[in-house]
Amino acid sequence: MLRVGDYKISLDVKEEGSNVDFISHAHSDHISAARSSKNILASNETVELMKIAYNIDTDVRRIDMPNSMRIIDSGHMLGAKQLVIETDGEKVVYTGDFQLERSLAAPKIEIENADTLIMDSTYPYGDLAFGNKYEEELKMQRWTNMSYGNGIVLFGAYVMGKAQEIIRILNDVGIVPVVNRKIAAISNMYKRCGIGLEYLSMYENVDECEEALRHNFVGITDNNSLKRIPNKLSEVHEKRVYTAVATGFSRMFSFNTDAQFCISDHADLKQSMEYIEASGAKKILTYGNGKERFAKEIARNGLKAYPFIE
Ligand SMILES: [Zn+2]
Repeated sequence: MLRVGDYKISLDVKEEGSNVDFISHAHSDHISAARSSKNILASNETVELMKIAYNIDTDVRRIDMPNSMRIIDSGHMLGAKQLVIETDGEKVVYTGDFQLERSLAAPKIEIENADTLIMDSTYPYGDLAFGNKYEEELKMQRWTNMSYGNGIVLFGAYVMGKAQEIIRILNDVGIVPVVNRKIAAISNMYKRCGIGLEYLSMYENVDECEEALRHNFVGITDNNSLKRIPNKLSEVHEKRVYTAVATGFSRMFSFNTDAQFCISDHADLKQSMEYIEASGAKKILTYGNGKERFAKEIARNGLKAYPFIE
């Protein structure tokens, strides 16, 4: 919990005694305050996505932004925001999940000068580098085009954020993927927010979708279904099914798929260091799983950092 004046602010994790609960974005590991809190701070898109994805209506429990607080884009996914707090001449920024590289499905990150940064620790690994995202996207487009000529291509992805990014990357080379129900509902919301996505779904455009399924096609489903459905799909369609994932963890693990692409919606350590430098922050507090390791890695790069403690 972050204490600023009279405010006791929980950051993406509901904590006992908080009087403001900030939900930076709608991924499931950040919304524990959504069901019970009466004082939610979240962007309009996050509120809408929580309604669509989890059937949680937080609208009536939202509070107006206090004068000392603002939210700015974090580049992570649609509606993902950082919390900026300014009091007594001191400026604190909580990043939430963030990425520095441009995403085809989210607004670019805003970086402001800050005194203190409370920084997400998702990738606290000094030996992990994502590399050039644009080249990885090209690799994915080429592989998909090639495999699609020989059968069905099936991507597994987080249904919110990553699936929409994959749709955009595929759309850029003229591929319109077939997506599952949840991805369609969330993608529809993205479209309403002005992010152009072309996809087919049995729940929105049945005829076109049925026609697409008669030929080789590219599909996007959730990560769990990717483990279950390729064999079935292969049997039903009598075609080879090529599987793939797109995640930063591609650099660390083997996913047992035909292809894996390092397309992350987070920052690696090098990018986190770039962020710190750009913000000019003197005090860096690491936050979330991996915060101890992240603080050590930042220190190894010459800056003082400490795990966030309430
Ligand atoms: Zn996230």
